[in-house]
Amino acid sequence: MKRTITIAYNNLDKSIETKNILVEKLLNSDFEVSEQIEENTELIISIGGDGSFLQTVHKFDFVDIPVIAINTGHLGFFAELSPDKIDTFISAYKNKEYFIQEAETIEANICTEDENIKLDAINEIVIKNIQSRTVHLDLQVDGIKIEHFSGDGMLISTPMGSTAYNYSAGGSIVDPNLNLLQLTPIAPMNTNAYRSFTSSIILPTSSVISISPEFDFENTILIVADGTQYKFTKIEEVKIYKSHKKVKLLRLNGYEFWNRVSEKFL
Ligand code: NAP
Repeated sequence: MKRTITIAYNNLDKSIETKNILVEKLLNSDFEVSEQIEENTELIISIGGDGSFLQTVHKFDFVDIPVIAINTGHLGFFAELSPDKIDTFISAYKNKEYFIQEAETIEANICTEDENIKLDAINEIVIKNIQSRTVHLDLQVDGIKIEHFSGDGMLISTPMGSTAYNYSAGGSIVDPNLNLLQLTPIAPMNTNAYRSFTSSIILPTSSVISISPEFDFENTILIVADGTQYKFTKIEEVKIYKSHKKVKLLRLNGYEFWNRVSEKFL
């Protein structure tokens, strides 16, 4: 049975062009190529930007198969490869010149009056107001009350997501070797009227973060998981914690996180 590689790509001309070149080169190197997960898929290649990478992982429901990304997008922080490195990649992959980086993910359990809904995220879960108004939230960690937050929202980031929205909101960049949850306030209010922490809170991954709207069965809360927003009615509580799902990123030998950070951010 031939080795199968599954490919996902966005609809940019550059991504489609890269996909066509990649498919031809993989077929010439004796791989099968599919756009679905097959029984013998051993690798997923996502073509696009970081947004496409996130969509690919969600689309295939966090399947336990390594993923590598080819960047045809803007930033390409996750992406290991540029389109002109396809030959280098195929040769390195066949020679097993790579390692697997496992990334922790998080899960949100949204409790409404009527149901419990679960959402997964690789980068972050954000809780904010639906109408750009101030949101008032009670924060508990492992059942202990931490604060009554007022501001634009609260963001819970994985180490992998620390360089994304978390960083723009003033959170810290986290070395992927550290396992932790980072809770970053978005535009926190800290006045005589409202008192909120103004920096991120760093928590162990065993923590259960519980966020409840000020009023029971709130209808103005928006939950955003990796950029996709969800609206639920009558939210009572949102619990966020480490998920058992992991994302396996295939990294070519020589990859180094902090080199990537300097290259992409400075
Ligand atoms: P998007 O346009 O797909 O992404 C926004 C930017 O974030 C893009 O430049 C994207 O890179 C980059 N990005 C995504 N994940 C990253 C990571 N782990 N490290 C560094 N940069 C990363 O926006 P979207 O569809 O709304 O949401 C997708 C992600 O974008 C979210 O998970 C969130 O983290 C991020 N986002 C950031 C802000 C902000 O910084 N103010 C606001 C909303 C969302 P590419 O250019 O390669 O796609």
